[in-house]
Amino acid sequence: MPKPLSARTRKSAAGKPDHLDFLCDVGELTAVVTDSADLGACLQRLTTLVAQHLHTAVCSIYLADDSGQSLVLRATVGLNPAAVGTTRLKAGEGLAGQAFKELRPVLDNHASRNPQFKAFPAIGEEPFDCFLAVPIHRGAAHIGVLCVQRRRNQPFQTEDAKALQTVASQLAGLIGNVQALLAQPAAGGGPLPVRRGGMRLLRGQPVSGGSATGPALVVAAGPSPAKTAVPEPAGGTEADLARAAEETARQIKDLQDRIARRLPEAASLIFDAHLLMLHDDGFVGEMRRLARAGRPARTAVREVAAKYTAIFAASPQAYLREKVKDIEDIAQRLLANLEPAARREESAAGSIVIARDLYPSDIVRRWAEGAKGFVLTSGGVTTHVAILARSLQLPAVIADAPELAAVAPGTPLLVDGDTGNLYLQPRADVLKRFAEGERTRTTAHQRAAEMRDSTFTRDGERITLRANINLLGEVALARDLKAEGIGLYRTEFPFLIRTAFPTEEEQAALYARLVAGMPGRTVTFRTLDVGGEKALAYFNQGREANPELGLRSIRFCFRHPDIFTAQVRAILRAGATAKVLRVMFPMISSLDEFRAARQVVLGCAEALRAEGIPHAAHPAIGMMIELPAVVELIDAFAAEADFFSVGTNDFVQYMLGADRGNELVADAYCPHHPAVLRALAQVVAGAARHGKELTVCGEMAHRPEYLPLLVGLGVRTFSVDPHHLPDMQARLAALDLTQAQALAREILADPTIAGIARRLHLPAKPA
Ligand code: PEP
Ligand code: MG
Repeated sequence: MPKPLSARTRKSAAGKPDHLDFLCDVGELTAVVTDSADLGACLQRLTTLVAQHLHTAVCSIYLADDSGQSLVLRATVGLNPAAVGTTRLKAGEGLAGQAFKELRPVLDNHASRNPQFKAFPAIGEEPFDCFLAVPIHRGAAHIGVLCVQRRRNQPFQTEDAKALQTVASQLAGLIGNVQALLAQPAAGGGPLPVRRGGMRLLRGQPVSGGSATGPALVVAAGPSPAKTAVPEPAGGTEADLARAAEETARQIKDLQDRIARRLPEAASLIFDAHLLMLHDDGFVGEMRRLARAGRPARTAVREVAAKYTAIFAASPQAYLREKVKDIEDIAQRLLANLEPAARREESAAGSIVIARDLYPSDIVRRWAEGAKGFVLTSGGVTTHVAILARSLQLPAVIADAPELAAVAPGTPLLVDGDTGNLYLQPRADVLKRFAEGERTRTTAHQRAAEMRDSTFTRDGERITLRANINLLGEVALARDLKAEGIGLYRTEFPFLIRTAFPTEEEQAALYARLVAGMPGRTVTFRTLDVGGEKALAYFNQGREANPELGLRSIRFCFRHPDIFTAQVRAILRAGATAKVLRVMFPMISSLDEFRAARQVVLGCAEALRAEGIPHAAHPAIGMMIELPAVVELIDAFAAEADFFSVGTNDFVQYMLGADRGNELVADAYCPHHPAVLRALAQVVAGAARHGKELTVCGEMAHRPEYLPLLVGLGVRTFSVDPHHLPDMQARLAALDLTQAQALAREILADPTIAGIARRLHLPAKPA
């Protein structure tokens, strides 16, 4: 969200406005414009800022259109807002056109008497005769014009022109960068669309497979409903407001029903707060009182939302600050329901959501609204937001392209989650090709019939395939695809996608559904793995300089024994009916930690026994291998742990010191780095020496290029997202163990990434 602009107006000793202070603020604007997805709104903010600082009644920005021969009014304060997008000037026409054409400031304190003056009757500039326009240009490239106007008795000085030129030169850099993407609408105002007519292809990283098309919905950027600078259309009575509140409550209940059906772990919690607020006398009640007193309903919504946003935003408590999003969401929905035409733009239904810094609960919210796909502008493919998108089967890509900041809401998009490609304004033939592809896409469900109960290599080596489960909805697929149990249940997902901690009872009920979904098979619960990039939106974790190296995973659980104990009790209770219940801990770094965590499980089992509550009395207790610290101690761990699971996502991250979620270091995040592979070989051998099962459960497990190597290294159990199971089984059936072992030997002898990449037929640079 853009930072608020400060609008200080300092007077110098001579009593004139101090332009230096102003120029500092313009520097702040750079960040705002760069951050913002909506250039139109930014220009509008800029005009407000300039007008405040230069004490002008009017400030307007004109930008050149595609031809470069005409100017279009793009933002204004002081003139008729309806003129934005419709008022056009030819280069050289009028005073602004002159500044544009001749690339020089035009200052006239009696503008209407200037023979060059061009009057626009509906624009409302008659009272503002003092006129100053400066060109916005980069070198010889004409970009637009920045104009200010004052009333007759407030003339401009030459230092005003200099200050305005400096602003214009800052603006030139910003606008110039994005202008290649912008075209002027043929008629009417409205947001700036991406380049007229032409399809554009942006290359990103694939995150979640499948393709989807729809209009862009840019979220988590731009002005909030409470703060928007866009002039408010008047109207709307208390009765309208009451109707809008009812309609909003109905829509939210609908969303809740949809979530409850498909995502039981989120239950209704995500929108409970919304419903409470819609019935709250201090919130909607206050809006209605204002409307009754004569305030237009939309204004009342904005005012009350702004008041509560400010209160919650200032709270030191994360879960209260989190409420700001709820307030903004409700205000948006109320406004949309007061103004049906606006609704299409606000709702995610049918749209492709472009966002950065989303919490998993936001993804769920948008998914429940009917979003068809996601474009994330930050993060990496192994972040939990990405994992969640896959679990919800929402096509998604990560594309860190600056162009995305300028995509106008509603721009047609096509997301290809298989390749990472993103098409802006896709051509009809491209849309058709993808639509056909989707029609013929074989879903994992359809492949259930080809699955065999157990998996063998070509030469008969037995391999166990289990499923990684993030959401309960995936269990049915895992069962249909004959997964031999659950190798990793990421228990943090119910924590991540809700808006408050689930209780022990709620967890026990959820976990019991998981166990019931895999009758007679192994179910592996990983204890809570939050912190780091898996931030709980509602929990004050405090700021950490290096969250991935901070209070996360098992460390978080040790720091919050009440949360840890409630979870372990819930797991053991749910496991009462499981054939094999396994509990494992993430991010273990020492034997001491493993023992302490195991002691919590044993303590909980003992407490449940004493309380007479049915539970799994003797679960298998194991650990994830995610830290290099484990490698040298593998024998000591293997003597005590019942089983291991290698989380390659984190193992690679920590072996190589490369953030798994940071696309800037994606090159350094290299699963086939020789040190990673040698370490892997050590832990596989260590577990085998002690007869302990070792699973590979990170993303590396399902990548075809690594499969022969992993089997050759001695891995015999894999846990992958359920939809990978058919391909995994087929590839293993074609794999020759002797060849795989030879390949592993060669690779372990090679100390270079490039050499290993060649042997694995990978590009020299990691993908
Ligand atoms: C891993 O680190 O590889 C893993 C499976 O755990 P997560 O991706 O949930 O951190
Ligand atoms: Mg991990």
